[in-house]
Amino acid sequence: MQSIPRRSFLAGVPAAALLAGVARAQPTGAAPRFAGVKHEGDAHKGPVCVASLNGLRATARAMELMKQGYDPADCIVQGVRIIEDDPEDTSVGYGGLPNEDGVVELDASVMHGPTHKCGSVAGIRNIKNPAMVALLVLRRTDHCLLVAEGALKFAKQMGFTEENLLTERARLEWQKWRENMSKDDDRLNDDERDAPSGKVWEEPRHAALDDFRKAPVQHLTGTVHCSILDTSNNIASCTSTSGLSWKIPGRVGDSPIIGAGNYCDNEVGAGGSTGRGEANLQNLSARMIVEFMARGMTPTQACLESAQRVVDHTKEKRLRGPDGRVNFDLKFYALNRDGAFGAATLFPGGKFAVCDEKGPREVPAASVYDKPPLNP
Ligand code: ASP
Repeated sequence: MQSIPRRSFLAGVPAAALLAGVARAQPTGAAPRFAGVKHEGDAHKGPVCVASLNGLRATARAMELMKQGYDPADCIVQGVRIIEDDPEDTSVGYGGLPNEDGVVELDASVMHGPTHKCGSVAGIRNIKNPAMVALLVLRRTDHCLLVAEGALKFAKQMGFTEENLLTERARLEWQKWRENMSKDDDRLNDDERDAPSGKVWEEPRHAALDDFRKAPVQHLTGTVHCSILDTSNNIASCTSTSGLSWKIPGRVGDSPIIGAGNYCDNEVGAGGSTGRGEANLQNLSARMIVEFMARGMTPTQACLESAQRVVDHTKEKRLRGPDGRVNFDLKFYALNRDGAFGAATLFPGGKFAVCDEKGPREVPAASVYDKPPLNP
């Protein structure tokens, strides 16, 4: 394992934690590494809703429903529903990017602080609001997680209707990825096709997507995470996603796995994550965020500590860049039972969504590294 000396870190946000490179996992009982880091959310008190940046509208809706007296789980699930319904968000619900077969498979989880119950669905197809199904797993069953056909069957029994979740934009993005995947297969890559001898007939519905189709092929990630502390000091948290684009069919990420991409404890707070799910599955990051808050860390410090654990535990060479830093991104979000909130990313420049008495807004997150990735 390559070892790069640690640097000290600055207090303040967006102060990077400046712990670069491959560090050893901190032994239990060692002094907290991020004790000096401060964030504007540290001093906040009372009801608050926190989300990934794409969940700004979710936070506003959740707070609105909170004022109408809804259960905290309903507040955030209805907030997340807005993002799931939005075809422009290609990382969640309807319009989510598909698996390698071109089929959209969704994951979601909900955790309810007052009962300490959870419900999840994984690999569910044809249902655009998996968070709502996850909430019904929580409320109407003795189980925690339903997958694939079983999850779909349950959703239909609960009155959900099946629909095609693959939008034209997502299908074209998938087609571009599939065609450019390999020169050894029978699909021609962009640079293997001869130029046409005239204009190519284009369906009007595709013309609008021209710019987007010219962009380079990439593996895309994205998810919505949302948590709330309500006026009765109750907490709930939710994560919903279409997972990694072009994933192997049946792949389940961290979002529906309680403790990995989502966790809450009514006595402590909530933690959640978006980004490379495999890293959170290997580190149970959301559970660790809540554990770190229980040990006295602020939400921002807890998110940083969880992020640093992922960095420390990333041993595979393929997941490290030439500079020794990890080559993927993760974002962590947290709130505590007093209403303090925070977030951390691996690389600087990240923001997250917060809604409180001042309304919905974007807030800068702390970061483990102080410099952006080499090849963003
Ligand atoms: N965490 C999600 C997953 O691994 C993806 C993401 O947030 O981008 O399924």
